[in-house]
Amino acid sequence: MSDGHRGNPSTAARAVALTARFEALPGARGAGAGASGPVALVRAPGRVNLIGEHTDYNEGLVLPAAIDREVWIAFAPWDRPEVELTSAVFGDTRSFSFKGLSPETRGTKSWIDYVAATAWSMRDAGLPVRGFRGVIDSTVPIGSGLSSSAALEMASSWALAVPGAPRPDAGAMAAIAQRGENRYVGVNCGIMDQFASAAGRAGHALLIDCRINQFKTAPMPAGLSLVVCETGSSRKLEASAYNTRRSECELGVKLIAEREPGVKALRDIDEAMLERNRDRLPEVVARRCEHVVREDARVMATVAALADGDLEALGQLFAASHASLRDLYEVSSAELDAMVDIAVAVPGVVASRMTGAGFGGCTVSLVKHGAEEALRDAVLAQYQKRTGLEPRVYIVAAVDGAGGVKQGA
Ligand code: ADP
Ligand code: MG
Repeated sequence: MSDGHRGNPSTAARAVALTARFEALPGARGAGAGASGPVALVRAPGRVNLIGEHTDYNEGLVLPAAIDREVWIAFAPWDRPEVELTSAVFGDTRSFSFKGLSPETRGTKSWIDYVAATAWSMRDAGLPVRGFRGVIDSTVPIGSGLSSSAALEMASSWALAVPGAPRPDAGAMAAIAQRGENRYVGVNCGIMDQFASAAGRAGHALLIDCRINQFKTAPMPAGLSLVVCETGSSRKLEASAYNTRRSECELGVKLIAEREPGVKALRDIDEAMLERNRDRLPEVVARRCEHVVREDARVMATVAALADGDLEALGQLFAASHASLRDLYEVSSAELDAMVDIAVAVPGVVASRMTGAGFGGCTVSLVKHGAEEALRDAVLAQYQKRTGLEPRVYIVAAVDGAGGVKQGA
């Protein structure tokens, strides 16, 4: 059981409130509901990626942190092969049965699909699951790029798991949830989001090697805060542009592999190899590959800079990553660029860049303790004037990954 909630003063109150909500469901534990025993609680955090963007699906490196914006589920197991969940965020109740679950028959096109996807994928991997009735609540902003979907999946994986049954490690569990989102929900995401939500460590970022699904923890330097700024801009283009970027990377690998034996992913390509094969690549494909190859190197350099507390290097690495995503990978936006511009001009802001897939969503900044409010003030004063959009600023902390908070029966 994770204890990542410890020290968060709102946790106990959240647990009580969510449990009360569960108890208030009509017939929460009546004979008709079939659920019995004490209410169990599970939680799973959202995540923010410090650096390593569009590298996960290229078998590369990423450096996310799980953050204290979380999805919680209060539930009671029952002996039916079914899940019934009420979302406090959406205000509706949805259900699905384990019987006949398959990507071919998936069906509601609603939020419950993320839970059903996790159940399908766990069963498909040979893991036992149990039915339950519950309530879900969340402080992860939805659709902002902080991975509310992965948090929902990882929280679901804990609620669905049969207590005492062997549980795969965080990387393997993340791969199961990712496969559910890919195959069942139909979203072609990489593994970073689920992995960060599953494996987070309080006060640390995670260096994840997406080739082997293994991670190491990287301590956040004392004296720095993590601040996430939401641009409020729509990510309408995202799915198709994301898929195009993935195909461009695949084409780069295919063309380079014709001349370089053993190349299976952009992970296998370094800058020298890219340069000697550049003439084989369409210009746009070469630029996409250049971003990914150099971004992997920046991730390793960031881990070293965090360990050394080298603030200047952190600033340069974040700036280089942002420029590369803007100019080479072309996934930034005027709003993301404006947000970074505003942040880096604030004294005490050490590093700032767009985070997540791009086209909108959030920026991530490393900020000296005490300068968080100055960043918030600058964003609130300038961003809307520049873009016409309403920003949100979240000062977040790195927390432990998903787990049970309170056991039921
Ligand atoms: P992101 O992961 O960046 O927040 P996505 O579009 O990938 O955005 O996932 C958002 C979806 O996840 C929502 O539309 C909803 O279906 C589901 N979801 C997230 N949080 C909740 C919640 N608290 N209750 C119900 N569904 C949720
Ligand atoms: Mg998502």
